[in-house]
Amino acid sequence: MDTNLMEKIVALCKRRGFIYPGSEIYGGITGFWDYGPLGVELKNNIKREWWKSMVYDRDDVVGIDAAIIMNPEVWKSSGHLEAFTDPLRECKLCHQRFREDHFREFLKHVPKGVGNVAPRKEFVSIFYCKDGKYHKWENLTEPKVFNLLTEVFLGVTEPKQKAYLRGEITQGAFVNFKNVVDSTRIKIPFGIAQIGKAFRNEITPGNFTFRSREFEQMELEFFVEPNEKEAVRWFTKWKEERMQWYVSLGMNEEKLRFRKHGDTELAHYAKAAEDIEYEASFGWSEFEGIHNRGDWDLSKHKLTYKDEETGKELTPWVIETSGGVDRSTLFFLIDSYFEDAKRVVLKLHPKLAPYKVAVFPLLANKPELVEKAKGIYKDLKKSFVATYDGRGNIGKRYFAQDEIGTPFCITVDFETLENDTVTIRIRDTMKQERVKIDNLTSYILEKIKK
Ligand code: ATP
Repeated sequence: MDTNLMEKIVALCKRRGFIYPGSEIYGGITGFWDYGPLGVELKNNIKREWWKSMVYDRDDVVGIDAAIIMNPEVWKSSGHLEAFTDPLRECKLCHQRFREDHFREFLKHVPKGVGNVAPRKEFVSIFYCKDGKYHKWENLTEPKVFNLLTEVFLGVTEPKQKAYLRGEITQGAFVNFKNVVDSTRIKIPFGIAQIGKAFRNEITPGNFTFRSREFEQMELEFFVEPNEKEAVRWFTKWKEERMQWYVSLGMNEEKLRFRKHGDTELAHYAKAAEDIEYEASFGWSEFEGIHNRGDWDLSKHKLTYKDEETGKELTPWVIETSGGVDRSTLFFLIDSYFEDAKRVVLKLHPKLAPYKVAVFPLLANKPELVEKAKGIYKDLKKSFVATYDGRGNIGKRYFAQDEIGTPFCITVDFETLENDTVTIRIRDTMKQERVKIDNLTSYILEKIKK
């Protein structure tokens, strides 16, 4: 595996306008990132594809968009005030922080030294710190437990009302369960889908956007008959659907796997959980969790559902698919990165690529070519997110578009002026075809659909 890959991705993201460090001109702020002009397109495309497959393509799921700040009682009832915690150990010598569970996990699974952990024979006594030295175990503090919810204070007069930025978007779906059932008359099994920001006071933010303090989640809470058989059936179904979704958008299957949570690892709300993991240069890493939450949430919020046919009141169980928008964005970027001696390419699925098409005049100093190219660009913009480039030579323009993943580049040349055809160059194969201007939109649409 290319160990410098992350550095290359981080540099490309900054250079080409995908992702910048948050508040950079003031020295940044740990755990926060800003998406630039291309990053916001990529992220929006991922969210749009998710919404399409989870809401528009189905009859049994509806969407909501709940507020980020909720009545603090929500977090008390859901168990987050008590149990949404991470244990932290700190090195007394250099103050590097370790999440206890990550540290233990490394100790169990890593055959050789990786990340913060020394090679196996030394696991028991020493660890590797950010000062580049191995320190003795005894220099680690005892684990201390921290709550991950971010506190905010509302109002202008004292005492201000303490509230929390939501630590997961999930609870918004539960507190609106009754509203959704009453206003839509939807019947179980059904789901509530939502995309939105969540905030966690992470104690070890890092690996670029992978562990941030502000991030977006895309979640489905799917309500089923309250019994083990139904729950297992839907759990299995959703697991497969979600994995397939990433593969259908071009993610390399060999880099994906499920990882089942052990009994001691399960979150406070979960009866069962499996993560979808990607093999990043920093190891196999979770970017979506499929959870069987049982009746934990609805019973904590004292919510029930009435079966119209039988008149019976019941508390449905919940199967949840909880994906990270930022982690998916990062892994789509990493997975699509390709380089050889000649070029760097983001082989993003055309549905995800920030620009679908770029239009160039062969020569920028020939007004008739420029005018024709601008006309085609203006026309294509009605159907696609497109870009126009008249700088440098054609080779440089291809290079620049490859690096940001634009799947199709159109060049207007002298032949265009004669017969209204253009060359269209395909990013992945670098092959060129001659296409009639009138057929361009349908040509591109057809290719994007695949
Ligand atoms: P981890 O064990 O890595 O802290 P988690 O198991 O706490 O993650 P969940 O609570 O299951 O994560 O959240 C669902 C999804 O939300 C994760 O799979 C991930 O994609 C995303 N997510 C969670 N925490 C973060 C974070 N700090 N930064 C970016 N994305 C996150």
